Amino acid sequence: MAFVRVADGVLVATSRVMATTSTLIRAGDRGVLVDPAWCADELVALADAVDGLGVRVTAGFSTHPHHDHLLWHPRFGGVPRWASPRAVAVVADEREVLLAELLAEPACPGADEPGEPRPAEPGEPRPAGPAEPRPVEPAESGPADPAEPLPGVRVDPRRPTRGRPSPEPSARSFPPEVLALFAQVTALPDAPVVALPEPFGADGPDEPLVAVVHDAHAAGHLALWAPERGVLLVGDMLSDVELPLPFDPDDLEAYLTGLDTLAPYVARARVLVPGHGTPTSDPVARLDVDRRYLAAVLAGRDPDDPRRANPGMPEVHARVRALAAARFG
Ligand SMILES: [Zn+2]
Repeated sequence: MAFVRVADGVLVATSRVMATTSTLIRAGDRGVLVDPAWCADELVALADAVDGLGVRVTAGFSTHPHHDHLLWHPRFGGVPRWASPRAVAVVADEREVLLAELLAEPACPGADEPGEPRPAEPGEPRPAGPAEPRPVEPAESGPADPAEPLPGVRVDPRRPTRGRPSPEPSARSFPPEVLALFAQVTALPDAPVVALPEPFGADGPDEPLVAVVHDAHAAGHLALWAPERGVLLVGDMLSDVELPLPFDPDDLEAYLTGLDTLAPYVARARVLVPGHGTPTSDPVARLDVDRRYLAAVLAGRDPDDPRRANPGMPEVHARVRALAAARFG
């Protein structure tokens, strides 16, 4: 769970679960922590890494109200954890559901029961140990081969446990002090594009960090734009390992609108960091791939996107096709 530098003062750590990224935007000895995740031991490792850098966390940021993006650790401090007003409303309505989803997740592989890995489900690759943090892929090298699943990558949750009883809560994975901080997010001012208030503290640098609100993938999903660094954090969008996920609620129109909302930022970004997968220095290519995929599905074609080979993605693809078909039904 080491940080990899992807841009000036922008550090990304990658979880062994679903290649989930945690990002630290650092300004001297201050830092904004985005979507810290995921396993209990990884949250501790993140706190160690932040401490090791001599950085004090001055704000948190949650891209969207899904359980893998609402975690926190006491060692990050009692700072505001910004989210969109719609996301905060979702959390207010559904905190217990979100918490149940978190607890229903299988224990993090390799953490609690090193000698007893969770049996792989049919068709699921065996846990292959921690995903190595990978440096940002150079634009010249072209896209990574998404047909080759990252070690430890499973399908993104997308509320997989909603409605499913939690058979054996894996609370042992998360100590009470971590569970108590789950989803304790604070609403940003209600605007489509809004600067974080004093992201590096009242007496810190006044570099702007800008939240861009849309409703793709989840209500009130945010991207975080660091204009002075040319870095765009997109949450569960524009991934090299996951297909577009217009699923919470099922809303293809909102997803397409969300891509349009992000487009001008993607065009200006030098580095893009997805919530799951690999950061890239060719952000426009990521947007193009997703637009091409969705345009093809909407045209009734069956696009040959290599991400379809990744775990869980055949089911996602079938669902996207069903949504597209219903749009014209
Ligand atoms: Zn996610």
